[in-house]
Amino acid sequence: MPSRARTLSAPIADIFVSVQGEGVYCGQKQLFIRFAGCNLDCCYCDEPAARTGAKALRLTVRQLLRAADLLLKNNPAGDVSLTGGEPLLFPDFLNALIPALKRRGLRVHLETNGTLPHAYAKLGRKPDVVAADIKLPSAAGKALWQEHAAFLRLCGKRAFVKAVLHSKASRGEILKTIETVALVDREIPLIWQPATPHKVRKISSAPGSLVKWALAQGRKTLADVSVKRQMHVLWGVK
Ligand code: SF4
Repeated sequence: MPSRARTLSAPIADIFVSVQGEGVYCGQKQLFIRFAGCNLDCCYCDEPAARTGAKALRLTVRQLLRAADLLLKNNPAGDVSLTGGEPLLFPDFLNALIPALKRRGLRVHLETNGTLPHAYAKLGRKPDVVAADIKLPSAAGKALWQEHAAFLRLCGKRAFVKAVLHSKASRGEILKTIETVALVDREIPLIWQPATPHKVRKISSAPGSLVKWALAQGRKTLADVSVKRQMHVLWGVK
């Protein structure tokens, strides 16, 4: 690893081995590296500590790899998820980390809010899988359609999309989400994820009738649309 890469550091909120609870790879054992810090503040954020960076440790690439090696020695996994917070806030760090993870034979997944195309474009070695969110304006507090479209155009076939449906999601936002994916590539899988109810943040899921409607609308246009809940919450694992 070049000497500059060795000294790069990023705030890491957590590193652990668990089972993926969302998306296309739900149920797969993975190493999770959770970055701290985020450029958004979604109303349903289930990782507030990772978003703000509270309790995060600043680690160099070398320190992080050492921790990953140790965890995988005791609890092997073939895939690693770079998650957050928002990992793409640290593209230089990822440029050192991703090749090192791939050299270890790990398949690299990037879990991202899908709003930072310029940071993604900076990555020399791309992740193998990109789990990209589309954030509805009712959740993020602003429209991000252009950023999402630009991001998905860069990812192509590596990407699948997840959009969280909470109680304030509107039909217009749902149609715009479908249109945004379809205009890039109608083969990109889209997963509607009903929000996990949260008492403290006063979040409730979209009504079942709206989720069914979103599924039916998506299937009119896209090749692969499904509904999946956050399973790790039900399983009681992080
Ligand atoms: S993008 Fe993710 S980490 Fe950031 S605020 Fe939204 S849900 Fe939380």
